[in-house]
Amino acid sequence: MGLAVGIDLGTSNSCVACVRGGQVIVCEDNEGRRTQPSVVAFGSRSVVVGHRAKKQILHSPEGTVTSSKRLIGRRFEDAEVQRMKSHSAFGVFRGDNGDARLRVHGKSYAPEEISAHVLSHMKRIAEAQLGETVDRAVITVPAYFNDPQRQATRDAAQIAGLECIRILNEPTAAALAYGYTRSTKKRIVVYDLGGGTFDVSILRVDGDLYEVIATAGDTLLGGDDFDIAASEELIKLFEAQTKQSFADNRTVRLRMREAAELAKIALSEAEEVLIDLPSAWRTVQGVDHSFTYTLDRHTYARWVLPLVQKTLAICEETMKTAKMNMRHIDAVLLVGGMTRYPLVREAAQHLFGRVPDTSVNPDEAIAVGAAIQAHTLTSTDESMAPSVLLDVTSQSLSIRTMGGHCDVLIPNNTPIPTEHSKVFHTAVDQQTEVRIAVYQGEGRQADMNELLGQFVMEVPPMPRGQVRIRVTFSIDADGIVQVRAVDSVHGQEASIRIEARGGMSPEEVKQAHFGSVADQDLVPEK
Ligand code: AMP
Repeated sequence: MGLAVGIDLGTSNSCVACVRGGQVIVCEDNEGRRTQPSVVAFGSRSVVVGHRAKKQILHSPEGTVTSSKRLIGRRFEDAEVQRMKSHSAFGVFRGDNGDARLRVHGKSYAPEEISAHVLSHMKRIAEAQLGETVDRAVITVPAYFNDPQRQATRDAAQIAGLECIRILNEPTAAALAYGYTRSTKKRIVVYDLGGGTFDVSILRVDGDLYEVIATAGDTLLGGDDFDIAASEELIKLFEAQTKQSFADNRTVRLRMREAAELAKIALSEAEEVLIDLPSAWRTVQGVDHSFTYTLDRHTYARWVLPLVQKTLAICEETMKTAKMNMRHIDAVLLVGGMTRYPLVREAAQHLFGRVPDTSVNPDEAIAVGAAIQAHTLTSTDESMAPSVLLDVTSQSLSIRTMGGHCDVLIPNNTPIPTEHSKVFHTAVDQQTEVRIAVYQGEGRQADMNELLGQFVMEVPPMPRGQVRIRVTFSIDADGIVQVRAVDSVHGQEASIRIEARGGMSPEEVKQAHFGSVADQDLVPEK
C-alpha cells in the first residue's frame, strides 16, 4: 500500500503535505515551490497543470482553465455559474444532467475532471519528493460546501486514481495544523478567505480533541470576487477615458481582471500601485489604447469594502450561533491567500478585538492539517497520539412539505456523523410510491435551497395510511448525505430511486479515470 497525503485543493492554489517520522513535510516541486496554481492548460496533445499552466493564461486564455472549483457540484442555472460564464475565456455550458460543464478547444469536461488533473499533479509532486507511491488522500473542501460539491470532489479523487479517505473542512484542517505542535486548551476562530470561498469556524481545542462549535460561510465570496469588483471599476474608468463600452469585450475584461489581481497583491505591501497596460485595448484597425491609473489603498478599500463587511457579518452570526462573545476567543487564525491583504487582517483584528495569530502559514496550514488527519486515519504508529475531530454540518438538511416550505430534519451545526429518522405514510388508497424531495440550505422555502435529490420509494399498494415508511437521513464524517428507508409492513429495506441528482454518473467517473494511456498524455512539470 502506498502513502496517504493531505491535499488542499484550492480555488486558486493547491498544496500537498505528508506526515513522516512524526514530521509534517510540505511537498515541493522541483523548483522548490510549495504551492501550485490550480490551473489546467489544454494544448493540442498535452495537458499541463500548475505553474506552467498559469503562464499560458494570457496567450491561450480559451485553453486554460482557472477557478474551476467554483463550478464543481453546481447546476448550470446557478447564479455563480452564470457569472463564471461571463468572466471566463473557456466555455461553460449545461451538461445533459443539468450540471455546469466546461468546453475547451471543442471538447467538454466536467469540473471534476479538471480537479482530477490538479489532484493528479499534486500526487506526482508528492511522489517525486517522497520517493513512494501515493494512493490515498484526505482532501479539504470549504466548510460551506454542500453535498453535491463534496460528492464531486470525491469523484475527482477517484478519476485521479486516489482513494479519498476523508473529505475534511478547510478551517478544521487549519485548526489541526495550529494545534499539532502545542498542547493547548483554547477556543479559536478560523477566518478563511481564499480565492473562491469564505469560511469561518469556531472550535474548542483541548489537547488532541478538536471540536467544531459552529461554522458558516459563503461559497461565492473569495479573492476572485475582489478582483471582479476592482476590475469593474477599472473598466468604468477606461470606458470613460475611451468613450467605448467594453461590456462584451472579453480580452479587455480579462486584462483588467489580471491587472486588478496584481494591483491587489502589490497593494498588500505598498500604499499605492501604478497600473500600466500599454495595449489595454486594440481597435479593429489595430490601434493600441493604453490604460494607466494609480490605485491607492484608500480607493481600493472603497471598492471592496462591501465584500469585507460581508465576511464580518458572517463571523458575527457564527459567534451568535456558538453562543459566544469576543471575550471567549483565545486565538484568531487567518488562512487563505486573501488574508495577506492588510484591510482584511485589520477588519478581522477589529472584529475579534485581538491581533491574529501568525504562527500558521496561511498558504500551507490547510494541507498540513489534512496530512495530520491522513496520518491519524492510516497510521499504526503508537508514538503519535491520534487527534479526535468532532466536526459539524454547515448546512441544514430538510424536506419539502406542503406549500413549498422546508421542514428541517438535521439543522446546521449538528455534530457529524449524525442521523435522523422520520416516518412517512401513504395518503391515498393503493398508492404505489412515496416521493420525498430533500434540500440543503437555510432558506425557509424549498426553492431557496439546493435540491439534493427526490427520493422515490416504492410501496406495496394498500389502503391509505397503512403503509408506514421510516426514512433515515444521515450525514457521514465527510459531510455527505445518505438516505435509507424501511417499510413498516414488511420490515424490509424499501427500494429508493434517487432522481434529480447531478454530478457524474459512476460510469462516467470510471471512464474518465486516468488510466496509463491518459497518464502519458500528461506532461509533468519540468
Ligand atoms: P488561496 O485560495 O488561499 O490560495 O488564495 C488565493 C487568493 O489570495 C487569490 O485571490 C489571490 O489573489 C489572493 N492573494 C494571494 N496573495 C495575496 C497578497 N499578498 N495580497 C492579497 N491577496 C493575495
